[in-house]
Amino acid sequence: MALRARGQPMFGILQEAQELERAGKKILHFELGDPDFNTPKNIVERACQSLKDGNTHYAPSMGVYEFRESIINATYSSRGFLPNIDQVLVTPGGNPIIYLVIACTTNPGDEVIVPDPGFPTYFSSIDICGAKAVNVQLREENNFQLSPKDVIEAVTSKTKLIILNSPSNPTGACMSKDELKEIATFANDRGIYLLSDEIYARLVYGDEKFYSPCEIDHCKENSIILNGFSKAFAMTGWRLGVAVGPIHLIKKMNLMLNTIVSCVPPFIQDAGIEAINGNQSVLNKMKETYHNRMNIIVEGLNSINGISCVRPRGAMYVFPNIKKTGLSSNEFSKKCLKEAGVALLPGNCFGDYGEGYARLCFVNSQNIIKEAIMKLDQIF
Ligand code: PMP
Repeated sequence: MALRARGQPMFGILQEAQELERAGKKILHFELGDPDFNTPKNIVERACQSLKDGNTHYAPSMGVYEFRESIINATYSSRGFLPNIDQVLVTPGGNPIIYLVIACTTNPGDEVIVPDPGFPTYFSSIDICGAKAVNVQLREENNFQLSPKDVIEAVTSKTKLIILNSPSNPTGACMSKDELKEIATFANDRGIYLLSDEIYARLVYGDEKFYSPCEIDHCKENSIILNGFSKAFAMTGWRLGVAVGPIHLIKKMNLMLNTIVSCVPPFIQDAGIEAINGNQSVLNKMKETYHNRMNIIVEGLNSINGISCVRPRGAMYVFPNIKKTGLSSNEFSKKCLKEAGVALLPGNCFGDYGEGYARLCFVNSQNIIKEAIMKLDQIF
């Protein structure tokens, strides 16, 4: 089983960039999706207070009741339905939810439909579980939006799970409400599980509106929401995530999770309560800043020879086409790192259809983005 694990390639590239830094080279980091903002003060203070209050013991393995209550209320206000509290499982980050859902919905040989390019944990978890990934291409000419027709055509009698991720990592694309509804209704009718990775739900820009395909069945029968605090609340190091799903599935996921990690620390969950219910003004400001940075990086990349970049509508990544540079994705990312000191990811980290592209995370200061664009412009 372990032989099949592929992990997250971004951590390997970070290590390579850090080795160059140790050797004295200046590196501009665009490889990891880690906001440059620190966690808002009110959230940090709530965790500190919780520790001082003695919340240093085991928590219930499903999660702290008040936190799960905040989650169901937040689901009601953002997605229009109130899950039962037993539909909510607190996890150490969003990442484990992917593995748990795949492990609990598939047997070896079953098929999972997955967007390509897509988040690497999908592929690694499918492989570990001995299931088969059926990749559906996100086409650049369709602004990288997953097409319901392509998804439905890929379904066979072995399909157990469909993974959706809107807004998407790595492309920043958002699917339309109609597209998401079509896939969710189809999955519901056919009894196929649907994992909706909504970790970027709060990061949509301009007049784009977030829609959850789980509004179709309210996570009662076949759909599962993956959500997490890493991105929207700048809490990547805290490791806090939440799954909302059918009770029978959440029960099994809980058994697997408490076998491995017992529970999520209670003071971290208290910080989560503050993140959801506390003052949101800093978060709105962060989002506005990301939007400005996104505009700068898209314009900058489009001004470089051989590179063209679709404007994302959400998340925190751009996924430029680099085919006209004549380089493969790996050659391109190596050249950027070695010659310009810009660390980014080759598009093929995200699946075969990512070849010919690169991914850059734009949660960096405007000055760093402008410096990186200037340096890339000099080498192409
Ligand atoms: N899903 C997607 C699409 C992601 O991009 C990430 C993080 N990069 C995760 C899930 C997991 O995030 P975390 O474990 O930090 O909550």
